[in-house]
Amino acid sequence: MPKSCCVPGCQTNKLKNPELRYYCFPAKESLRIKWISAIHRAKVDDSGRVKHNKNWSPKSKSTYVCSLHFISGRKENFEKHPDAIPSKFPWTNIRSSSKISKINSCNDIVSPHLQLNLPEISGKL
Ligand SMILES: [Zn+2]
Repeated sequence: MPKSCCVPGCQTNKLKNPELRYYCFPAKESLRIKWISAIHRAKVDDSGRVKHNKNWSPKSKSTYVCSLHFISGRKENFEKHPDAIPSKFPWTNIRSSSKISKINSCNDIVSPHLQLNLPEISGKL
């Protein structure tokens, strides 16, 4: 099995995306819990206990998080750095990508006009 990303909705693996980095879960329990919680693979209750998904464990050998989920594209070992924990996910990108599609749809309205006007102008010239 190639290294593959375990984030729900992310389907990268070492064979398809060799340019990405694949990070295994941190050995430090407190940090690992944050990763598990961040990738929505398990819920952490108020007492800090992880309710593991029955079908999933971060201890599996093929469980990695790819570099796409880090703001700067790489994991930071300094625990207080925002990139110590993966934070970019398909579900967090939904809002920003809908903003982009709104901008694109505005451009789509403008650009056909420009394209239609161009032949007229060049015809007059
Ligand atoms: Zn991924």
